[in-house]
Amino acid sequence: MLKWDLIFNMNILENIESIRNDFPILNTKVNGNQLIYLDNAATSQTPNCVIDSISDYYKTLNSNIHRGVHKLSQLATEKYEESRAKFKEHLNANNTCEIIFTSGTTHSINLISNGFSKFLSKGDEIIVSQLEHHSNIVPWQMLCEKTGAIMKVIPMNEKGELDLNAFSALLNDKTKVVFVNHVSNALGTVNPIEIIIEKSHNVGAAVLIDGAQAVPHFEIDVKKLNVDFYVCSAHKLCGPTGVGILYGKKEWLEKLPPYQGGGEMIDQVSFEKSTYADLPNKFEAGTPNISGVIASGVALDYINQIGLANIKEYEDYLLDYATSKLNEIEGVKIYGESKMKTSVISFNIAKIHPYDIGSVIDNLGIAVRTGHHCAQPIMDYFDIPGTIRISFSFYNTIYEINILIDALKRASKMLS
Ligand SMILES: *Cc1c(COP(=O)(O)O)cnc(C)c1O
Repeated sequence: MLKWDLIFNMNILENIESIRNDFPILNTKVNGNQLIYLDNAATSQTPNCVIDSISDYYKTLNSNIHRGVHKLSQLATEKYEESRAKFKEHLNANNTCEIIFTSGTTHSINLISNGFSKFLSKGDEIIVSQLEHHSNIVPWQMLCEKTGAIMKVIPMNEKGELDLNAFSALLNDKTKVVFVNHVSNALGTVNPIEIIIEKSHNVGAAVLIDGAQAVPHFEIDVKKLNVDFYVCSAHKLCGPTGVGILYGKKEWLEKLPPYQGGGEMIDQVSFEKSTYADLPNKFEAGTPNISGVIASGVALDYINQIGLANIKEYEDYLLDYATSKLNEIEGVKIYGESKMKTSVISFNIAKIHPYDIGSVIDNLGIAVRTGHHCAQPIMDYFDIPGTIRISFSFYNTIYEINILIDALKRASKMLS
């Protein structure tokens, strides 16, 4: 637990009122009650600066990028490319051409897995983890079907941590790609990706890390990690839906074939043969989500202004508090007890179906997630249909957690 003097010095705690005022949705009512939003791992809420950025774009800048000689097109292109530069800085990539905008993490993973069909042949092996989101399993299964490659799975233990010895035993010179999420969306486990990346590189395998649940909570340095690909979604980072960020090492992105054909991604086109544009345009066919990409850069600035170190400190404090309060409720079982966790708690109360609890507390205006969280293999491991998942952001409060705990106690009495 944190010491009280530390808590009093916490930057976010001192500014929580003004931070919450940046998010208009936090002042709305749901089912007649003040909204308590605890589903941040599904999507984060959107601050005024991001909402304004989208609206300003359509009021003052709307045009197509990279094409027109006219002023609006030039200005929109500048803003769009500024956003790329912001993500390059933030992730500490070597070069802006290593940042590709997609429509989300799922799109990014498909772009990469599809490209890898060029490098895989029958009998090659790819490794994923048991902790993955479905969007990380299915594209690789499709790739295996197409190429005859074999998928191996890193198992986890009952704490929800990956078994690194088992991982080492899976690696061999046939391993071509290793694919792991940085943080599990279902359990909050932070995976030791530094070790996974190093061991994979030792056998010559490429590594793709899904950072959708990591980027909102702590700093990422792709150069230090020496990772080949790193992907995330803007909508979990206070940005709009429909924007994904894909980092890839330049050498890899140059080797990887384009995913979609169309405008913007070409250099020369004739009916005999077309040549592809340079990075990053090679992977950005068609008109992108221009306002969304610009607003995602604004969201990133907003997060950085609060500071990821402050965010981590405050979210850890909420996590500690909520975990200890939950454990006071009779029959609560928390899934995922790794020491390295982000602010996600997955749990059940006795044998009550998670959906029933979710419905009761939804009536009280409390938004949580129930179900398998797109991670059925994890639920199978624990032999449960699903969990109740609460996930905090830096705008949540101890007050909200207290209301949640009361509501859970009432729901559990009603339902048992
Ligand atoms: C949300 C999430 C995804 C999917 O992201 P989309 O934005 O829906 O494409 C993939 N992996 C993890 C770990 C996630 O949390």
